[in-house]
Amino acid sequence: MDVQKIRKDFPILQREVNGHPLVYFDNAATSQTPLQVIDVIADYYKKYNANIHRGVHTLSQEATDAYEAARQKIQKHFNAAHAHEIIFTSGTTHSINIVSNGYEQLLVPGDELIVSALEHHSNIVPWQMLCEKSGAVLKVIPMNEGGVLLMEEYDKLLSEKTKLVFVNHVSNALGTVNPIAEIIEKAHAVGAEVLIDGAQSAPHIQADVQALGVDYYVTSAHKLCGPTGIGMLYGKASALNRLPPYQGGGEMIAEVTFEKTTYAGLPHKFEAGTPNIAGGIAFGAALDYINSIGMTEIAQYEAELLAYATASLLKIPGVKIYGVAPEKTAVISFNVQGIHPYDIGSILDKMGIAVRTGHHCAQPIMDYYHIPGTVRASLSFYNTYEEIDRMLEALKKAIQMLQ
Ligand SMILES: *Cc1c(COP(=O)(O)O)cnc(C)c1O
Repeated sequence: MDVQKIRKDFPILQREVNGHPLVYFDNAATSQTPLQVIDVIADYYKKYNANIHRGVHTLSQEATDAYEAARQKIQKHFNAAHAHEIIFTSGTTHSINIVSNGYEQLLVPGDELIVSALEHHSNIVPWQMLCEKSGAVLKVIPMNEGGVLLMEEYDKLLSEKTKLVFVNHVSNALGTVNPIAEIIEKAHAVGAEVLIDGAQSAPHIQADVQALGVDYYVTSAHKLCGPTGIGMLYGKASALNRLPPYQGGGEMIAEVTFEKTTYAGLPHKFEAGTPNIAGGIAFGAALDYINSIGMTEIAQYEAELLAYATASLLKIPGVKIYGVAPEKTAVISFNVQGIHPYDIGSILDKMGIAVRTGHHCAQPIMDYYHIPGTVRASLSFYNTYEEIDRMLEALKKAIQMLQ
């Protein structure tokens, strides 16, 4: 992997922030966008901007073909059996809400749903809303101090009352990689379905939905070098066919009269209204870009960066890292004794270094550790060892100033 060459694809990495070259370490919140993806978006608006699936004219046909070709790229990347099992959504949050909303019809009071202690709010709140409406009960797989799920507790929670299990593949707050193959297998053994939140894993780990046998897998394009406002819901056709539509409108119907409307088949049943056409096409281009570098190469380089950053950070007195699972992506959540994470984040920003501070949309994890939040440095394949060194130098200065 030629990182310096790759960095030239990202114009934003050349800019300065507060008089310093930007160090972008907030990749778990959103990744940067390469020219190859930006150009695809610009091309769409310059050359063939038109609504899809309805026009007889050439532009509409070109836009439809590009949008459907992107769906096929996504299908291939995640190894779904059929293109119609890929639903375009506005992102992970939207995808989860389609399933949680549809599940209301499938539950009776007393049914149980299982979530993990390591989730992003978008994989907690929609299910709490579902429990309120349906009378289902939410159970939580606990974690240990290292940020690892207690699988023996999961075994105890599972029963024939369990209807759905939803966990993230990778925790955005700690970087823990969860044992999703085992989670899926055990849920299926009691007849429950499984939704995997892949927002944080898709940029770093190749997921094969058929090999996993997962019922639903969701992700957002903006964390894997694509634009914001576009994502996907993968569902087995048999699972998606059980769910009612989420929104009504154009595109999602077979026939409409004032007496009765019949719905379209997959994927259109879940795609009401004019979608984010340029975004969908760019999602496909982002996967092309990542695959041109190679998922294996990306994972290996990021693991090396993580090991280097972790070892270097631990040499600084007072630093505590949260999340020390043996299997982690390049997310480092840490605090310095006696200093509020926000103060560190602000000083790092003054030196051009972008990190996230706060609860990272995962308040239950912060509550577990009895902390208000952490400083989170999340790395990507376009980051370098020199950038890590710059963060460490800046952090040492910040500590001097604040202590
Ligand atoms: C970012 C993230 C989400 C939410 O994704 P949106 O694109 O904001 O909908 C959900 N889960 C995890 C693990 C995430 O990292």
